[in-house]
Amino acid sequence: MAKHGIGRENLNTYSNNLEIWRKTQICSYKQPMSIKVIAFDADDTLWVNEPYFQEIEKKFCVLLEDYLPQHTSARELLKTEIDNLALYGYGIKGFMLSMIETAMSVSQHTISLDVIEKIIGYGKDLLARPIELLDGVDEVLQQLKGRYRLVVATKGDLLDQERKLKNSGIEHFFHHIEIMSDKKESDYQKLIRHLDVQPEEFLMIGNSLKSDILPVLNLGGHGFHIPYHTTWAHEHIDHTIEHENFKQVEHIKQVLIHLV
Ligand SMILES: [Mg+2]
Repeated sequence: MAKHGIGRENLNTYSNNLEIWRKTQICSYKQPMSIKVIAFDADDTLWVNEPYFQEIEKKFCVLLEDYLPQHTSARELLKTEIDNLALYGYGIKGFMLSMIETAMSVSQHTISLDVIEKIIGYGKDLLARPIELLDGVDEVLQQLKGRYRLVVATKGDLLDQERKLKNSGIEHFFHHIEIMSDKKESDYQKLIRHLDVQPEEFLMIGNSLKSDILPVLNLGGHGFHIPYHTTWAHEHIDHTIEHENFKQVEHIKQVLIHLV
């Protein structure tokens, strides 16, 4: 997804869980010789995303300091965002609307137009940010190109994700771009069918266990998890994964060990 967040009160739990995953990782992972398609998540897998959202959230919470302490505004915003997900989907525009809605509710509809204007400006700044590829991405894609069909599978605003891909300089590596409204099993099933492969020929690489890995494993596909240093609270899961098609790596370059 393209998304982001706040209310990162669970971050300690999250990093503890990562330790557990590292320790309990099973060794029975088999070389995925059957893989034909590798799909990459985009936000916080190919390029930086979540830290930009967090920056804006911080500014937003400072704006509302007259009404609520910052951490309370953060929690209110997260709640509004999650409530709105089914309506707006993932992405910056929905985030802007959720900030405006939160500002209105915490101020009991007394928020000034000046503040609303600032919120819209924050969102526009976010839309205009240059793309910052994560370390090793270009090298990994170069090595994998020609060996596999490479795909991007991302959530988020359609226009925004298209813009990011265009400006990323890596679009040419990909055979197919899928901008998904959600990343549930049924969404992956559609994608896998569209790509005309079997689930066991499909590998998903991403930073969210919940969105990028679990649904794909459930379908019989493969999942490589690359944890990012920060993850939106909505993407957290609090249990460990043990699956023969699952692999966790610390850095995107390490996927090459298993795939080349
Ligand atoms: Mg991601």
